[in-house]
Amino acid sequence: MKENTAFHVHIPANMTVLLNLYNKAPGSLIMAGGTHLMNHTFQPGSDHHSILSISQMDELKKIGRSDRYAEMGCCVTVNQMIDAQNLLSSPLLLETLQHMGPHPIRNSSTIGGNLCIPEKRMDLFPVLLLLDARLELRHVKRKRNGRASYKSRWIHINSFVSSEGNLGLGEGELLTRIRIPFYDGGFHFHRKVNIQGNDFFTINALASMDKGVLSDLRVAFTNGGRFVLRSRDMEANLMGRRFPMAPKDLEEIMKELFKYFSVPDNHYEEYLMESLFRQLLESLADPKDREEILL
Ligand SMILES: Cc1cc2nc3c(=O)[nH]c(=O)nc-3n(C[C@H](O)[C@H](O)[C@H](O)COP(=O)(O)OP(=O)(O)OC[C@H]3O[C@@H](n4cnc5c(N)ncnc54)[C@H](O)[C@@H]3O)c2cc1C
Repeated sequence: MKENTAFHVHIPANMTVLLNLYNKAPGSLIMAGGTHLMNHTFQPGSDHHSILSISQMDELKKIGRSDRYAEMGCCVTVNQMIDAQNLLSSPLLLETLQHMGPHPIRNSSTIGGNLCIPEKRMDLFPVLLLLDARLELRHVKRKRNGRASYKSRWIHINSFVSSEGNLGLGEGELLTRIRIPFYDGGFHFHRKVNIQGNDFFTINALASMDKGVLSDLRVAFTNGGRFVLRSRDMEANLMGRRFPMAPKDLEEIMKELFKYFSVPDNHYEEYLMESLFRQLLESLADPKDREEILL
């Protein structure tokens, strides 16, 4: 019979200690808010016995801004982001944050934890993708003489997930900061529908309109899987069109949806993708929603 080994929880005092501990034991689990880990990973008999708890590290909880972007440490919680809404100045991000689980969960769950769940793209991923967020990844490398060399690299969130859907974190590497550029388009759209268990189908969109002509459009779908579904060709096909759109043109665009995306295996997801996309187009065409765009 397999005996359960005790977990060892380390609470590093600072980044240097954290990076060195992770370098020595890259099989350790990084724990931020723990809201996902507690539910999924800590099974009796689990192989992970070393846990690096990072949620108390002040340097990972900072929020700041420049004139082009907001920047936050990976351990900023969902509720802290909601409280910093003026600083984030993204209605799409704010709406997404407000729909993420119950209040006590939002108090603990972090932006970094949300982006680093290995097997699923959670709610913040598609929104930060549309906002062109950049991620700082850090690790420490040991030189032959035993000296430590501290490495930091910034990547676009798009390259954080490989074509197989795996996270682009190297051994002993962790996500430390997130930069979220300000988007000045006036329209956003967010819908989230439960498909099964804890999995959701989502559509998120950002758009700008110039005198009734769509000058920018960014659309992303997720379905609780490893990928965010986005088609630049589909976006380009819609840009330059005048809104509101004639019903005939809207039907034409609807017919072409699965030219840009493969048809989901599951009929319910196919239905959701079509109906939420239609809602997006109707919302772009709706003068009430477009008031926001024209402001
Ligand atoms: C009741 C309930 C409701 C929920 N509702 C939602 C919801 O509506 N939307 C949603 O998106 N999620 C939801 N979640 C899932 C989860 O709470 C969030 O995704 C949360 O943001 C995860 O953050 P965390 O800090 O708790 O991550 P943790 O559980 O600490 O970690 C998650 C994963 O990321 C890794 N990790 C954490 N931080 C880092 C880092 N800095 N670098 C590298 N790896 C790291 C961990 O090793 C782990 O694999 C819900 C969970 C519960 C229990």
